[in-house]
Amino acid sequence: MTIDLIDESGDFGPGIPYRTVNPEHRINVPTCRMSALADSPDHYLDWRRARDPAAKPEEYTSRSIYGEYLRELLEQGAADAAPAIELNRVTDRVRAVDLGHSRPALLLPDHRVEVDHVVIATGPVAGADPVPVPVPDGLKEQSLYLPSAWDTESVEAATSDRDVLIIGTGLTMVDVALTLGARPNGPRILAVSRSGMFPKTHLERLTRLSTPEIPAEGPVSKRELLGAFTELLSRAAVNGDDWRDAIDSMRLVTGDAWRRMPVEDRRWLLENVNRPWEVHRYRMAPSVGARFHHLIDSGRLEVTKAGIDSIEQAGSRVRVNFQLTDGCDTRDFDRVISACGASTDIRRDAPEPVQGLIQAGHLAPDDLLLGLEVDRDGAARNSAGERSELISVLGSLRRGVDWESIGVTELKTQSDTIARRLLDSL
Ligand SMILES: Cc1cc2nc3c(=O)[nH]c(=O)nc-3n(C[C@H](O)[C@H](O)[C@H](O)COP(=O)(O)OP(=O)(O)OC[C@H]3O[C@@H](n4cnc5c(N)ncnc54)[C@H](O)[C@@H]3O)c2cc1C
Repeated sequence: MTIDLIDESGDFGPGIPYRTVNPEHRINVPTCRMSALADSPDHYLDWRRARDPAAKPEEYTSRSIYGEYLRELLEQGAADAAPAIELNRVTDRVRAVDLGHSRPALLLPDHRVEVDHVVIATGPVAGADPVPVPVPDGLKEQSLYLPSAWDTESVEAATSDRDVLIIGTGLTMVDVALTLGARPNGPRILAVSRSGMFPKTHLERLTRLSTPEIPAEGPVSKRELLGAFTELLSRAAVNGDDWRDAIDSMRLVTGDAWRRMPVEDRRWLLENVNRPWEVHRYRMAPSVGARFHHLIDSGRLEVTKAGIDSIEQAGSRVRVNFQLTDGCDTRDFDRVISACGASTDIRRDAPEPVQGLIQAGHLAPDDLLLGLEVDRDGAARNSAGERSELISVLGSLRRGVDWESIGVTELKTQSDTIARRLLDSL
């Protein structure tokens, strides 16, 4: 059997967050919960301890170290594989998937790769530009407006700017703020979003997990889920625990509950609870939180609630018209960086190969348009609701149906399930 691992970056193992070289960019889940192997929960901790006997379960390592771990794991997996299994690393971009012939074919810029099964694992889907009117192309061409905060080279260039605007106030904004804030005479930074909320900070200790009580089977309503959370919060208060213990415990059931919840309830939670949930759930490592708050306290960084009406060119700078709670404001910046987070409409933002498959009806957007219709075992569903024997989906594209589908905790289980199913079927 041949496995073609196709990635346009040419870096196999770590995905985008773990390719950073900035040591202050930390994992946001403690070491003891970051094993990449579903059947070996201490694998990352053991790997760390083999290199540094003082490594602690509760430490938040640099993401570049985690990237090394993933790179090594892939190499080891390839080396240990049975002789009949071959791993091909292909550095290229998949433009489309052709299902019109006897076998699926991946269309690359100058050749096609025929396979028996396609696993789509293209990562988080970024949202569109956060403005009602298009950002002028000239701003993008001159790198004065960066549509992606992952354009690390251009973000690095912004360290010599005077005033930078970051749109979005999640963990990606935190990464950018730390990069820009590392330079003593670096820019003043304004970060804005519609909520103005930004991630909370982890405690130094590990959270204490207890199982929330939701119905064992059948549908789960939003009331039952919120009730289980409220119960955990009161128990935490009585026991002298922390709200973080309650939030992290919810992760044990949110995926299962989400799948059993009526779509109206899921939509309500998404519209009314999602942002406060995210800032409490996806937290900064303690050292990152300390640096981030130092930037705020020293006046280098301001985080506020604002919408963006328009982004225009003003000479060599960028003019931004803001919508604030109490009126409008206009300010000029040397650079604007978008760190807006995940897409809210997969039909508009899906990556190229997924876009084509949706249009042809081979894949179907989920009810909330956050990603795709996918069965629990990773098999995709088409627009007629039929299960696909040819395509599986892994990661963020399952957010609409699985909810928790972005972190290593879920990805390792999803990939294990898909791999076992494929081994049985092929
Ligand atoms: C700032 C940040 C910090 C995070 N920290 C953590 C953490 O500490 N712990 C945790 O559990 N999770 C964390 N996450 C979540 C993180 O997204 C996942 O852990 C993980 O990286 C997702 O893996 P993935 O393989 O699904 O996607 P990615 O890591 O995004 O990988 C997708 C890959 O697909 C390739 N690709 C995409 N489209 C194509 C195409 N058409 N052709 C060829 N190749 C293509 C890309 O080059 C990329 O390599 C973090 C996320 C962010 C944004």
